Amino acid sequence: MGNSKKFKRKKIWTGNDYALRQTYLQRPPSEQTIKHLTKQRQEASHKPSFVKIAEEDEITEDPEIDESSCKLESIKENHDDLDGREEEKTKPVACIECVKPVRVFKGEEINRGDHIKFHGRIYDHHAIVVNVTISEEKDHKVVVELVNASNTTAGAVYACMRPFASKAKLLSETKKLNLKKIKVMVYKYSDTIKHSLPEEIIKRAVTAKSNPDFHYNLFSNNCEHFTTWCVTGERLSLQIRKIRMIVQLFANRGFQGIGDEALRNTIECEKGMLCKPCFERNRKLLSVAKQPIKSKLDVKIGDIITYKHYRCWHSAVILEIESHERSLECKIAHYAFRGFHRDRKIREETFRIPFDGSVKVTDFSNTDYTVYDPEEVVERARSKLGEKRYDHFSNDSSHFSRWCKLKLYRNRNSLQ
Ligand SMILES: [Zn+2]
Repeated sequence: MGNSKKFKRKKIWTGNDYALRQTYLQRPPSEQTIKHLTKQRQEASHKPSFVKIAEEDEITEDPEIDESSCKLESIKENHDDLDGREEEKTKPVACIECVKPVRVFKGEEINRGDHIKFHGRIYDHHAIVVNVTISEEKDHKVVVELVNASNTTAGAVYACMRPFASKAKLLSETKKLNLKKIKVMVYKYSDTIKHSLPEEIIKRAVTAKSNPDFHYNLFSNNCEHFTTWCVTGERLSLQIRKIRMIVQLFANRGFQGIGDEALRNTIECEKGMLCKPCFERNRKLLSVAKQPIKSKLDVKIGDIITYKHYRCWHSAVILEIESHERSLECKIAHYAFRGFHRDRKIREETFRIPFDGSVKVTDFSNTDYTVYDPEEVVERARSKLGEKRYDHFSNDSSHFSRWCKLKLYRNRNSLQ
């Protein structure tokens, strides 16, 4: 489709981190954006600079936010509060929005010092990347040198029996990866979580490995803890929004409202899975009013509509509208559901809106959200047709719709 052509390259102020701007995010950034911004951060090292990106999930036209007024401190404080508040102080949990695994498909997307994860047969395997060599012919083939905490079942059993006797079992490992065949994720740490520069991370991993007295049980025999410790200096438990886990969270509440995003957001925050700024951002976004559609005047091209589909709320973006007497015949873009075992794909389809109020439209008109022009919303939606990155609760039909509609950053003029 040549998306990059459609979206003008814009000059943006990136600085060396994107979390500094986290306060101004209107919605969670897409995986693509996280990749871009963290890449720039690595390359730009300390010096903030102007960089051109072709990423469509760009920054507003006029992004001259006065960096000096950004309150990174307060964001950090919030995180500290969160940790302090938790009764399980020994087990800090990383916010699911602030530490995100992003799938990598090319060798160049893996860097020294990265926290990498592969799926294992028994459990996931986490490691620190010490070196990367990309195959010259095939960019999806790569050789990585890793340091990781051994996490074999035998080791775990042994450690349970003699919890204080187990020594570090840290290994260096060289792995050949075919990124097309195996699912490899790199964890992207937002700057709301303090984390070290790549060289420091590697140094920490390598030094721990070569120290014979290093006590592995510090990490409760958990390779995830070792890896997060290398990156942040703290043992963090990483969480992912998985269906199974969400179901568990809702088990005590009789599963009522499991499809209710706002309720999910609250529960995730209560469970310490979300930091306060991320919780607040979601809460604000999810409380934007939804108005029932009762006439043709109630909905326009580029609007987000919501309706019940298989007894769940489902969202879509309006691409075209044709008026009829008692209903509207629309073209919509959405993550189409075609049965439980089929991959969901973003599709353009025909949809009829009756004027009985059963379909609602999200009304951004009286909010301070910066939205795209209707034509741009349609263009963004169409640029994603065919995408198969559906993920329950983190990249579903409502995330897609909001991505189309909302600019990533709040407009400068509406900043307090
Ligand atoms: Zn967060």
